[in-house]
Amino acid sequence: VPFIIAIDGHSSCGKSTLARAVAGELGFIYIDSGAMYRAVTFYFLKKNIDLQDNEAVKAALDQINIELKAGQEGMQVFLNGRDITGDIRKMPVSNLVSKVSAIPEVRDKMVKLQRDMGKKENLVMDGRDIGTVVFPQASLKIFMTADPGVRARRRYEELRAKGLAVSLEEIHKNLLKRDHEDTTRAWSPLLKAPDALELDNSCMSREEQLSWIMKKIKE
Ligand code: C5P
Repeated sequence: VPFIIAIDGHSSCGKSTLARAVAGELGFIYIDSGAMYRAVTFYFLKKNIDLQDNEAVKAALDQINIELKAGQEGMQVFLNGRDITGDIRKMPVSNLVSKVSAIPEVRDKMVKLQRDMGKKENLVMDGRDIGTVVFPQASLKIFMTADPGVRARRRYEELRAKGLAVSLEEIHKNLLKRDHEDTTRAWSPLLKAPDALELDNSCMSREEQLSWIMKKIKE
């Protein structure tokens, strides 16, 4: 049985940074489940899919093939063979992704793909419903959170380093909006699994977070 670490939590609180670091430390695969929802959103935007039109949504989902590959600068995301790693971090996708990921058919397809990944290898997966829905049997579950101001600042620095110019205010608004949409949706909302360990990293360095989680793994 593969060893699975599930990391859930609010937007931009450093889940993927920590997940990638733990995966590297343990030699596990790292899967960013949010990137999969972003890839679907990118496709829907490109094809101008009406999110209210259930038939159109279902037909579009049948046209989507998502591949995740470990690249030199982290995970690369391919949609129907095209590298969309950069595109899925931009604001049009960030602004729509929570609406797309609230659609039950979308979640259904993503959850199936994610479970298949967990059948084969040890992995660390981060997202919103990994410990509650995708892998309720996960060996370790972490629920991460941090102060919204701290989160906005971190995402701002990250996007700026990538050369994407967005204001701090726009990022702050976007993450509060996503938190709201993710926690209030009817279908698998973001919530802490009863057996998840909570990690508030507002005042923790990356090294401190990594040693915190490595200690929990050993316990
Ligand atoms: O992790 P990231 O912030 O990139 O995820 C983007 C969006 O995808 C989230 O705001 C959420 O709406 C959705 N998501 C989800 N379930 C997951 C991962 C992400 O609904 N497991």
